[in-house]
Amino acid sequence: MSAAQPARPLLIDGEWLSTPDALISVNPANGEDNHRVSAAGPRQVDVAVKAAARAVVDPVWARLLPHQRAAILHRIGDAMLANIETFARLQMVENGKVWSECVAQVRSAAATFRYYASVCETVSSELTPSRGEYLSMSIHEPFGVVAAITPWNSPMTMEAQKVAPALAAGNAVILKPSEVTPSPALELGRIALEAGLPRGILNVLPGTGIAAGGALVAHPGVGMVSFTGGTASGRRIAEIAAAKLMPVALELGGKSPHIVFEDADLDAAVAAIIGGIFEGTGQSCVAGSRMFVQRPIYDRVVQAVVAAARTLRVDLPDRPGAQMGPIATFAHRDRVASMVERARSEGARILTGGGPPQAPDLAKGSFYLPTVIDGIDNRAAIAREEIFGPVLCVLPFDSEDDLIAQANDSVYGLAAGVWTADYRRAWRVARRLEAGTVWVNTYKQLSIATPFGGFKESGIGREKGVSGMRLYQQAKGIYFGLPAQ
Ligand code: NAD
Repeated sequence: MSAAQPARPLLIDGEWLSTPDALISVNPANGEDNHRVSAAGPRQVDVAVKAAARAVVDPVWARLLPHQRAAILHRIGDAMLANIETFARLQMVENGKVWSECVAQVRSAAATFRYYASVCETVSSELTPSRGEYLSMSIHEPFGVVAAITPWNSPMTMEAQKVAPALAAGNAVILKPSEVTPSPALELGRIALEAGLPRGILNVLPGTGIAAGGALVAHPGVGMVSFTGGTASGRRIAEIAAAKLMPVALELGGKSPHIVFEDADLDAAVAAIIGGIFEGTGQSCVAGSRMFVQRPIYDRVVQAVVAAARTLRVDLPDRPGAQMGPIATFAHRDRVASMVERARSEGARILTGGGPPQAPDLAKGSFYLPTVIDGIDNRAAIAREEIFGPVLCVLPFDSEDDLIAQANDSVYGLAAGVWTADYRRAWRVARRLEAGTVWVNTYKQLSIATPFGGFKESGIGREKGVSGMRLYQQAKGIYFGLPAQ
């Protein structure tokens, strides 16, 4: 990248604007700079929020009927698919996800726009039972200006998951993508304008968490915040929202238990455990990062998982057959490495991995091998803190009660997986686990039609599903007096 190359502009009120400050996007596969992107600060946030507040009440948007909003959402979904390679490449060079996963995520994001187009034009308001001489109803209105703040691990799917329902609900949106992955959001802004979304209804403001994200959350013109990211950031956002009495939806971190009972289909369980933790190089909020194995099959399962982890192909993300790309940033790779080193120094056994690959063509990237750790207690830091990298902690359990006590002994409650042939046990365990999503004999199966979110410190609110559009609306009761003549 040449230093003279201008920073890519950000999108405010339908215009592309450059700012004096820029983010430098770095390719984690080789450490080279990709491009520079204009960074928003409080000034740009203020201009964007005011533009969005004007646009959301402008009849050009406010008077659109649901089926007309749906038509725009369909066109955005179509345009994502028409630009599938562009979107996939932008994500791949910014966060290092392997090509096949990037392509799958563009498809998923496009499907989210189509899904919320359908929700938008089919969902009804309610007539509520009358208790007298009146007609009463509950209708749903947009908040106005919604801030959507997203992380770097799966930017396109997270952004679609917020922007599509918020627009379907009739809001204007300020999208603040992660400073690591600003470009897919800007591309979404471009195609949305081309799809006929009125100016000012979707504004895209890359920038840092504090200068752009913090200013956005605190802005009095923002009526609701939808955030996906770390629990510490979510807590700070919730504190600001509390002072404003503003609703927030928070999708936060996890430390999900992935459980294998002795009667499970072990081949299927091992394959799912490998995918559940190492897909996306472990940078998934629902990564099954704590594997609990019933003691009689512990050695067998651990050996199979270690053997499978060693066969995973860690490679440049655009190479055919690559299964694990780099970690999204060098700083995060170093953080993952230091957590593993701390565990090692505290007596943990590193059964495989525990460092970068040796291949010379990967030496410039932020790669880290799939790592499996045992010899730890569920209370060890490595088993409690979210690593957000390719590191699996394995722990034995004896009885169902012992398992539930260990699995639920976490501040997080995002997801869990259970492998057993006994459907009664599957049902009991699924009900007792403190998690927003439980998978039985499958893992990481996600559907836009099924609400998703966290228990405990994994979040507040549920995205996806029909209620995922209601998240961006407030109910209003209207009564028509109908006295007898
Ligand atoms: P992060 O919290 O550092 O950043 C997320 C986003 O918030 C970024 O856009 C960042 O700029 C912004 N931000 C940071 N501090 C802010 C503040 N004080 N005010 C406003 N905005 C702020 O998270 P990350 O490192 O980008 O992503 C990894 C985390 O995201 C992990 O903890 C992971 O579990 C979580 N995550 C959760 C889900 C889910 O659905 N539950 C999905 C993906 C990722």
